[in-house]
Amino acid sequence: MSYKPIRTLADAARHSLYLRVVCPGCQREVIFSPGSLIGFDFRMGHKPLERLATKFVCKPPEGCGRRGAELSVIQWPSIRARPAAPTPMLSKAPRGIEQDAWDKADVGEKRRLIRQARG
Ligand SMILES: [Zn+2]
Repeated sequence: MSYKPIRTLADAARHSLYLRVVCPGCQREVIFSPGSLIGFDFRMGHKPLERLATKFVCKPPEGCGRRGAELSVIQWPSIRARPAAPTPMLSKAPRGIEQDAWDKADVGEKRRLIRQARG
């Protein structure tokens, strides 16, 4: 098997790998499936992983509130760390869309909001 560097979530998804997100503040660890994150915000799929790191927030009450994370790509995790729903991460609303509406929207609703904002 040849080695291919994983640079984006799309690469990770293609190789059936998972994204491990660790908070540098409290060491909280969350595992995401790349597909769930791409579904959550489809523009994330092709951004370099190091640019996604700044988008994560260690969300209270479980988290410490710190912004930014250490990202690594891993194989299917141990049983104690199951993939989480992508709710601990909030993305910035695109131009013309209210942040509050964006945060509450699911994937289908986000697509609708984007269409609406484009007019
Ligand atoms: Zn934290």
